[in-house]
Amino acid sequence: MKKNFIFIAFLIFFLVIWQNATFAQSKNKQTNEITILFAYTKKTALEIGGGAKTIQEQADYGIKQLNECLTNSKIGYTAVAIPELVEVDLSENIKDEHAELAELRKVNGKYNRVHQIRREKQADIVCLIFAGGKQKDEMMGIADLNGDMMVCHFGIFDGTYIFPHEFGHNLGAEHHPNDKNGGDNDYLIKFRGELYRTVSNNGGVAIPYYAEDRTIEYEFKYQDKNANWKKEKKMVKLGDKNYNSVPGMRIQAKKTAQLGENLPPVKKNPNAYTARLVNASNEPMPEGAKDAFKVVDFTYNPKTKMYTFTYNASLVYANIPRDYQIYLVDKSGKTKPQIVADGGINQGFPDVLKGKLESFPIKSGDKLQLRCCGSDNEKAKVVSEITVK
Ligand SMILES: [Zn+2]
Repeated sequence: MKKNFIFIAFLIFFLVIWQNATFAQSKNKQTNEITILFAYTKKTALEIGGGAKTIQEQADYGIKQLNECLTNSKIGYTAVAIPELVEVDLSENIKDEHAELAELRKVNGKYNRVHQIRREKQADIVCLIFAGGKQKDEMMGIADLNGDMMVCHFGIFDGTYIFPHEFGHNLGAEHHPNDKNGGDNDYLIKFRGELYRTVSNNGGVAIPYYAEDRTIEYEFKYQDKNANWKKEKKMVKLGDKNYNSVPGMRIQAKKTAQLGENLPPVKKNPNAYTARLVNASNEPMPEGAKDAFKVVDFTYNPKTKMYTFTYNASLVYANIPRDYQIYLVDKSGKTKPQIVADGGINQGFPDVLKGKLESFPIKSGDKLQLRCCGSDNEKAKVVSEITVK
């Protein structure tokens, strides 16, 4: 018995030593991770609504979608964001995202300071989040093929999976060969009248997989005639012999994951944009910045039984409230709050919503609570409360 104990103690001792040795080898990150440094222009912080905090939320949302795709396609690597963001002192709209990607690529160019920070943080990939674009605020992204630089409009971190698409380019994924100029192509999957695509492709609703010579069983979600959500499984071809990005992506991912630790020193360019590291959680909203989502007023008229509320919302909608509920809180407080109205919020645009609460007995002194929530699973938060006169 005692012998066994000594043996186990030794085993634990060696396991700890071995683990520490493995940790020492991988330094800052796990070996199967690709780190991304998110930089943004000051103009973006002014436009996005909520400032750096929203940019961080958008980036996290993009990373979540990206990892869903990397896992589904068994790339073998996970994407991780560097915790801090880089704010680039650039207060104008970016006019041409292609030219900006070319500039971002230059180590000694305007984004020289970003390259310095990239080296300090040992980031494998840099993603510049911008406002503007060739056609103002067209939501798009571009990325180097088999490269480590990408440029994304702040509004693309949504259901379209444009961020994983651009990241796919960095790992060598290409559009379908028939897709010459970035438009729709013939490799689209039809389901109940709707067109779908892999994230490597253009057009249609995204299926979170990269193009590969593989067929999978995919569960489609759709709304039936009565607007109820249903699920249906169907076999889906993700690509073919000529449209098979995943094997190449696995090889490129291995190279990309080693980029950050092996960057050469960066010389200082005094003419470059100034830039600073930002911790989004305690970064104040810049002066003149927009709110991500804010209820401006909430009223109820007992005579007409009409409620109305006005809200401001920025262009970004991935993480802002999409639905609202109005709860009636009885003056006596004896009964539980009950829902007296609910509906959807116009995604990303300011609006005024009105409705009638005629089927509920609402007395003077009762309270009406306006609650909003961001997604189906999120619990609604109280954003405004009024006492009925
Ligand atoms: Zn593309």
